[in-house]
Amino acid sequence: MNYSIALIPGDGIGPEVIAPATGVLDTVGDRYGHVFNYIELEAGGCAIDSTGEPLPNETLETAKQCDALLLGAVGGTQWETLPGRLRPERALLGLRAGLGVFANLRPAKLLPQLRSACPIKDEVLLSGNREGKPEFDLLIVRELTGGLYFGKRGRNADGNAAFDTETYSWFEIERTLRVGYEAAEYRRKKLCLVDKANVLESSRLWREAAAVVAKDYPGIETSFLYIDNAAMQLIRNPGQFDVIVTSNLFGDILSDEASALTGSIGMLPSASLGSPHDPLAKNGRPMGMYEPIHGSAPDIAGKDIANPLGTILSAALMLRYSFGLEKEARAVEDAAAAALDAGLRTRDIASRGTAGVNENIVGTREMGEAVIKLLEQ
Ligand code: NAD
Repeated sequence: MNYSIALIPGDGIGPEVIAPATGVLDTVGDRYGHVFNYIELEAGGCAIDSTGEPLPNETLETAKQCDALLLGAVGGTQWETLPGRLRPERALLGLRAGLGVFANLRPAKLLPQLRSACPIKDEVLLSGNREGKPEFDLLIVRELTGGLYFGKRGRNADGNAAFDTETYSWFEIERTLRVGYEAAEYRRKKLCLVDKANVLESSRLWREAAAVVAKDYPGIETSFLYIDNAAMQLIRNPGQFDVIVTSNLFGDILSDEASALTGSIGMLPSASLGSPHDPLAKNGRPMGMYEPIHGSAPDIAGKDIANPLGTILSAALMLRYSFGLEKEARAVEDAAAAALDAGLRTRDIASRGTAGVNENIVGTREMGEAVIKLLEQ
């Protein structure tokens, strides 16, 4: 089958990590008989340089016509002094809103191969894991198009006071919760709502909605945690979590914390999904935007040292959620794990930044080529 993919390499390490991911997709295509057509588009800093806009209208309109969107990263120090509405990161907000992708799924799993890269002690990990393994496997579902990042904001007349507003509708909360509950059905059947309901009225609405939606998922155990406690529990006992559902702001922070526990921000993929009933849904599958959770990492851009696995694993999520190609998605995930099994490490996931026993430090390109080779076997 043919699939059209809007491809936004973006800035910094974006193009470096996108290249191996498309190489992997092409290999999947050859092996399983699919054709992936890429439509390369500009967004972020490079788009500001060429058009003056972080998200040119043509980019958004073309992306809407495609079956899915794969993005590297946007941003960089050279655009940091621009006013907020012209910053590269605005492109992300515009794409999420324009494509109607409202739920961001961020899996965070400690792979046994990367145990040494996780900063948590064995005994702490073991205390939370019923199977007696120093591992964890959780999924953060973050609301993506509401809350503080999209609420009313401003300054007073003399500019020395500022405000941002957290606003959520029942509709926005309910559809996000449902994504979380559906995901929990296929996992360990536990869902934890993270909020600040002891202080925030919007959080109290999240809890009310959860109490109602939970009735449709009787097999799933629902729990509640305040964000401050959740941030602590994630370090003290990550194995207790299965699916975490939370707001835009809290999800942004918690998922970066979770990424640090897996060893490196460069390892983690993400999927941002719309509703299967939206006009932009294709073949009954929701519109999806796929990207690693890291940024453009200007400090390592152009050096061929960025970890491409977060982007390669994002492509695997695209195969699964947007194209329904589960077998192919697993093949990519297995090939990435096999590359780690073979001892290959980019610098960020090598033991203490240098090659440990049986570890071989490779660059971005070499890691991508290894995954491709393993996929071909
Ligand atoms: P970052 O994620 O780019 O980098 C944080 C740290 O992680 C850096 O030390 C970087 O070298 C390292 N890192 C990130 N990705 C890596 C990878 N694949 N392999 C190895 N190491 C990796 O966050 P930042 O430095 O706060 O932001 C840099 C720019 O990216 C900013 O302009 C920011 O606004 C933007 N940003 C974009 C996105 C996005 O496009 N989705 C997300 C976050 C930040």
